[in-house]
Amino acid sequence: MSITSFNPPIRTLMGPGPSDVHPRITGAMARPCIGHLDPAFVGMMDEVKTMLQYAFKTENQLTIPISAPGSAGMETTFQNILEPGDTAIIGSNGVFGGRMKEVTERCGAIPIMVEDDWGKPVDPQKIEDACKANPGAKAVAFVHAETSTGARSDAETICKIAHNHDALTLVDAVTSLGGSELRVDDWGIDAIYSGTQKCLSCTPGISPVSFSDRAVDVITSRKTKVQSWFLDTNFLMGYWGPNAKRTYHHTAPVNSLFALHESLVMLQEEGLENSWARHYKNHLVLRAGLEAMGLSFVVEEDYRLPQLNSVSIPDGVDEAEVRSRLLNDFNLEIGAGLGALAGKVWRIGLMGHTSRVENIFLCISALEAVLIDMGADINKGVALYAAQNAMK
Ligand SMILES: *Cc1c(COP(=O)(O)O)cnc(C)c1O
Repeated sequence: MSITSFNPPIRTLMGPGPSDVHPRITGAMARPCIGHLDPAFVGMMDEVKTMLQYAFKTENQLTIPISAPGSAGMETTFQNILEPGDTAIIGSNGVFGGRMKEVTERCGAIPIMVEDDWGKPVDPQKIEDACKANPGAKAVAFVHAETSTGARSDAETICKIAHNHDALTLVDAVTSLGGSELRVDDWGIDAIYSGTQKCLSCTPGISPVSFSDRAVDVITSRKTKVQSWFLDTNFLMGYWGPNAKRTYHHTAPVNSLFALHESLVMLQEEGLENSWARHYKNHLVLRAGLEAMGLSFVVEEDYRLPQLNSVSIPDGVDEAEVRSRLLNDFNLEIGAGLGALAGKVWRIGLMGHTSRVENIFLCISALEAVLIDMGADINKGVALYAAQNAMK
């Protein structure tokens, strides 16, 4: 065999995640591995929990990173809250809302789907109607930031409605955490999960989750066992919980947690609100450039996510060809459309460390160069000037 070391190409990641990872974070990951029950490691675990509470804006004791990607965070929240026969109302407006249905069914629970068009937010009125039509529903679940479209739903209003009907709230914040306003305690979110590789600009593979005291009461008084042994928070508390004896549950991904720790230190240094503001400001710069070029945004400004920009593809352009030329000629990754938007949009991510003006100028200039070369009908030579003006 002549297989040698793998050296990935250096890319700029402007897709739907993972986003660019700051060298401080990859540097942290390269530090020496230590035992996952080493007292030094346990001290770092406590700091990770404290910083996650800061990022989520919560005092929830059960705020921990799950040792697996965002999808496992989804499984963790649903599996711990839902028991066989329970009903969950699910607001769905994209790929990830659809996945919630799958996960709910695998819990033996009954999903009541509340559908909205892709690119639109979850409609609170429809959630209210579904709560009225399904009294006794245990939970209302929805995606705060739908990465498949770039739409943000009004989590605060939806949570209020759910609580008025005595339902717990289950929220996907994989793409919102660190990138746009998110207030777990103020908004009354009972169970939430996120991912490390989006606006936290950390490497993929960890899923921060948080459960309210009310949710913990529901979990500890379950009649049936949580379907997954690995994701059962009753056991995870023995490893991560307050006053936990730190008994062996599973081997934590030690170096990945070094990386998460560093990314959360960086978030604190910047300030959470400053990070939200940076994501928004940079969205405005990208928007100015792309609109000047003649591209349009799919999601209305009112509920558009600054960190995930779905833009139209000019008529007659082979969108996959554009993406592959950006990757091959400019080392720039942007995302394709998914599901109902496949072939209709590009998804340009400005998440975490990716959300910097130099990346925006690379993206606008490279995209313009490729589109002109492919004979697309766009406005030439105006995008960079418009973006520059939007920085003022
Ligand atoms: C990325 C993403 C997920 C899944 O996270 P993975 O880390 O890929 O498992 C779930 N929900 C949303 C909204 C996402 O953007």
